Amino acid sequence: MNLDQLLDFNKKFVENKDYEVYATDKFPNKRMVIFTCMDTRLVELLPKALNIHNGDVKMVKNAGAIIRKPFDSAVKSLLVAIYSLKAEEVVVIGHHGCGMTNVDTEELQQSMVERGISEETLHTLEHAGINLHKEFHGFEKVEDSVSQSVGIIRNHPLLPKGIKVHGLVIDPETGKLDVVTRED
Ligand SMILES: [Zn+2]
Repeated sequence: MNLDQLLDFNKKFVENKDYEVYATDKFPNKRMVIFTCMDTRLVELLPKALNIHNGDVKMVKNAGAIIRKPFDSAVKSLLVAIYSLKAEEVVVIGHHGCGMTNVDTEELQQSMVERGISEETLHTLEHAGINLHKEFHGFEKVEDSVSQSVGIIRNHPLLPKGIKVHGLVIDPETGKLDVVTRED
């Protein structure tokens, strides 16, 4: 879908008041924030498979549902969901067949060069301490990655007491969830 199609559709959507069925407020009814992958297969499947509707949860996404440092952007979103939006439970959901499994960072860097990113830029970044291999490295096993993300959240110095943090993996075809780690 290109931008014009998107805008055309949007005009009709608003004119027809199709938004009315989605009316809600900014606080999640289920008091939950979900952190998952941006995978296209999960856009509709994940909410359907978890019985999530508009207004139910806060949803944070990135490539791979990866958190590697305590102040990664996604973590800040989770903390805002907890402190400002009344979320009481954090659910990290990785998925099988994720594009961040065994990322070939050499190949990624090569395609950057092919798309016009100069070697000079790459060297400048390297000197600034930005290691592309580290930055774009995904994971070998999704369960390990979910555990790592959950561990960083659970041990975060700014996580208030009483917040439960769970880790799950979803099948992007059937929507089946498997629990990796949970707090009761
Ligand atoms: Zn993914």
